[in-house]
Amino acid sequence: MIDRVAVIGAGTMGNGIAQTFAQNGIPTVLIDTTAEALERGMKAIHKSLGWFVEKGKMSEEEREAVLARILTSRELSAAAGAPLVVEAVFEDAAVKKDVLRRLDDLLGADAILASNTSSISITELGAATGRPSRVIGMHFMNPVPRMELVEIIRGADTSPEVVETIVALCRRLGKTPAESEDYPGFIANRILMPMLNEAMFALMEGVGTRDAIDAVMKLGMNHPMGPLALADFIGLDVCLAIMEVMHRGLGDPRFRPCPLLRKMVAAGHLGKKSGKGFYDYAPKPTPALV
Ligand code: NAD
Repeated sequence: MIDRVAVIGAGTMGNGIAQTFAQNGIPTVLIDTTAEALERGMKAIHKSLGWFVEKGKMSEEEREAVLARILTSRELSAAAGAPLVVEAVFEDAAVKKDVLRRLDDLLGADAILASNTSSISITELGAATGRPSRVIGMHFMNPVPRMELVEIIRGADTSPEVVETIVALCRRLGKTPAESEDYPGFIANRILMPMLNEAMFALMEGVGTRDAIDAVMKLGMNHPMGPLALADFIGLDVCLAIMEVMHRGLGDPRFRPCPLLRKMVAAGHLGKKSGKGFYDYAPKPTPALV
């Protein structure tokens, strides 16, 4: 029975994942390395819960109850005793393996380690621990509290019982699970990311302006967001990391990351989270009072 959860990483995804567990009555500890990251994560949760209250989907009392279910910590040891830990740290295999190995030492033998990775092999992450049968991919979509899908990835050694537990948990969270085999990018990013990458090539080659490219896909294909806006929303560093995993893992040149994407990441223009990407997100300066 999953009666409490630890979420590692309070960034774009981690805070939404923690909120979703807490919104469904599950006490959650949100863990990150710095006080600033935790503060940013909690701020995002407050903002997202505010949206639910504004839309009449949640009362003020419920919001307070959700917040009371979320604790924060800078220590990985705060995850000890949790039957499930979801890691949502950087999309970097070495960072993830290090976190999973440390969790492996901390947790009970039955605990499940889930990774929110967008593309990295669950088999490889599982093999880095002493419990590959209890390691699984639980790929939430952004923004987590509002997106219905969770992609479930079974590694080569993930046990059917663990898959069953996680599928049931997704339903308890009001989500729809879809199962994927463990290949680079799984289903979601195998299909989505090359489209975003191609939009960047189109921009780089001058096929269209940023606004024209996004307008074509939004208004012409009925996508809720244009591909360049969506890449900003996901995070350009995350997009690059995913393309690299697919390029390396599938060995096909059609997955090569767009040089413009590399350049923007090198410049620190990571999209919404850094204030600048294909679009500008810097807060507008308030006009000086005279
Ligand atoms: P992010 O950069 O916004 O956040 C990552 C967080 O992890 C940061 O706050 C960082 O401080 C923390 N972190 C790094 N190393 C840590 C460690 N050792 N211990 C504790 N915390 C640590 O990244 P994100 O966009 O939230 O992505 C997280 C994961 O989710 C990645 O694997 C990514 O591929 C995946 N994902 C992202 C999206 C998206 O739209 N951004 C969607 C689905 C899945």
